[in-house]
Parts: sequence; C-alpha cells; structure tokens
Amino acid sequence: MSELIESSIDQAVELAESTANAEKVNLLGLSRAKMEAFFLSIGEKKFRAEQVLKWVHHHRVDNFDDMSNISKSLRERLNETAEIRGPEVVSSHFSEDGTCKWVVRVASGSCVETVFIPENGRGTLCVSSQAGCSLDCSFCSTGKQGFNSDLTVAEIIGQVWIAARHFNNVPAKMDRSITNVVMMGMGEPLMNFDNVVDSMDLMMDDLGYGLSKRRVTLSTSGVVPALRKLSEVSNVSLAVSLHAPNNELRNSLVPINRKYPLDQLLDAIHHYMNSLTDSKRVVTIEYTLLAGVNDQPEHADQLVVLLKDVPCKINLIPFNPFPHSGYERPSNNAIRRFQERVQLAGYNVTVRKTRGDDIDAACGQLVGNVMDKTRRSERHIAARQL
Ligand code: SF4
Repeated sequence: MSELIESSIDQAVELAESTANAEKVNLLGLSRAKMEAFFLSIGEKKFRAEQVLKWVHHHRVDNFDDMSNISKSLRERLNETAEIRGPEVVSSHFSEDGTCKWVVRVASGSCVETVFIPENGRGTLCVSSQAGCSLDCSFCSTGKQGFNSDLTVAEIIGQVWIAARHFNNVPAKMDRSITNVVMMGMGEPLMNFDNVVDSMDLMMDDLGYGLSKRRVTLSTSGVVPALRKLSEVSNVSLAVSLHAPNNELRNSLVPINRKYPLDQLLDAIHHYMNSLTDSKRVVTIEYTLLAGVNDQPEHADQLVVLLKDVPCKINLIPFNPFPHSGYERPSNNAIRRFQERVQLAGYNVTVRKTRGDDIDAACGQLVGNVMDKTRRSERHIAARQL
C-alpha cells in the first residue's frame, strides 16, 4: 500500500474517532446568535436556528425526531452531533399553596434548586445561577455550602425549560404559566456573568420564552464592577440584596461589602438605573430581617436616609430559620413596626410572605438539608469560629 493511501486511511480513522468521541453540542444552551452560528458551522441555513429554537423552548421537545418541519436527513445529522439535555431532575416537590420546587443535578455533580411561586395572577420562577456560592453571606443557607461550580447556560435556562415542561402537563385553568423569572436562587448571578446574560437573553427572546425586560430580574449582593458591566449588555430589572443600612453591619452580614462598600454600591445602582431608557423603573431593595440584628428602629431610620435618592421599592424578607444559622426570625410585631417606620418616610415597602413551608422552599434549604447529611454546614460553621 502506498504511503499516500496509508496516510489517508489514518486521517479518516482519526476523523471518525474524533467525531465519535466529540461531545454532542447541547442546543438547549445556545442563544439565538450561537444557534445560528452552529447551523452555519454544519453547512445549514440560518433559518434552521429559528425553527429549532421554537421546538426547544416553545414546544419543549428533547427529541429531534419530533421536529416535523425539519428534513429527515437533517434530523439524522442532529441526532449524531447534537442533543437537547436539561439538568437531571433529582426530585420535585409540590406545596399545598401551589409553590413547586425542583432539585436538579448539574454537571459538577452538585444540586441546585428552582422554585415556582404562583401569586395574584403571576407565576414567578426563581432560578439558580451557581451551585453553592462563594460570597458567604452570614444568614444564607446556600453560602454555608461553599462554592461548587458555575452553571452553564443549558443548566440555567434548563431550569426554565424543566418548569415549562411541567406546566405543559397541568390543566390550563390552574394558571401556572411562568410570567416572571428572578435570578434569585442559589449563587450570585454576577459571578457567572456571561452564562447568566446569555440565559436572560433567551428568557426575553421571542424564540425563547418571550418575557419582557420588566419581568426578568437579576438579584445581586453587590458585585460592583459586574453591575456596571451589566448596564452595557442588558436592561433587565434589578434587585439588590442590601440587608443592612450601614457599612459596619453590612460588612458582617454580606462580606462582599468589605470590597465594595455602600457608597460604591449605590453609585453602581444609579449608573444601572440611569442606563435604562424607561425612567419609570425602580430597583427592588431586598432586606432580610434578622431578629435583634438589623430590625431595630435605628436601622429603619438609617435605611430611609441611605435610600433617599434611589428610585426603589423595598421588600422585607423575614428570616426563614435553618439549622445552625445562628439567627432568628423577628416577631410579627417587630416586622410590622419596621415596615411602618420606613413606609412613613414615603417608601413602598412590602413583606415577603413565606411560601411552600411544607416543602422547604426557602432558598438553599432543601439542598442544604441534603448537604447537611454530610455534616458539611457544621464543619463550615466550626471552621469559621476558629
Ligand atoms: S445571599 Fe446570595 S450572594 Fe449571599 S451567600 Fe447566599 S447565594 Fe451567595
């Protein structure tokens, strides 16, 4: 056999092996631009991206053979090179009050949570962006688990896809469609910037879930440089986890405040809000009320002064206790007093209702319980006390 023929055979074998070994492209995680690039890369026209995006996100199929307007030959090709794969659902929990919760496993092997809360004609899905979290807020169940991994786009948008697939199966009159998404689950979304931005784009894309920019909210604990960068690439609604009205207290509750203190955070909030073309939008300030820690009258007064120039509404979140947290929920009277004091200064102040108590729906709780089986949170707390 000539050298030339031998070399060609070697190349063909190599190519066949690399194709066989290559990971399939997960189309669930491709934004419109990336889906178009994918089809161009396999020699197909761009309009295939539109067709497939609709099949994936509107019809929520996971099988190319269901895509009836795609030719058989292209479906066969897609079966060989691509897949539509959401994160694995480990467990589903359905509360009597309509709250639903899914625990899903991501590629790193960790679990994250997705929670659906139906209320007053709205259906809000709370989505996770990281497995665990590195920011270590002192009152947060997720923070106590430490950081495990950033979620991929397929794992973030996959949570919306899983919930939407579920609601396909419930009677329409149960009014459980997803009208809002909040990036408020496990993790700090701005620490997984690119994947979160791509996922939010898919949530707002008409070929994805078609939600308006007002109905997609990113919640941050205050990663200031990333918040400034966000204003250049997105116009979603903003929520800020404040939790304290002065630097000293916030340093102890939200450690990232030591790096980006309140004056820098407020500047970045102004910058983001000014970048929105719609001047009527306001930032949501989240404030977890911890008994005897940040729920006193002086804290309410400081909050009023701190936020005087910020177009905002304030959402008070009574702490939802979990094992070894070291914090307690304030009494209903204390919560009401705090709310009234801030309201008197002219702010719109709501108190978040506890939902899904019977299924441990508070953020991080369910996965926290699973992790506690390894006594990880006790070790974490013990290490912090050294
Ligand atoms: S509150 Fe948010 S940012 Fe802080 S540790 Fe928990 S998940 Fe992370």
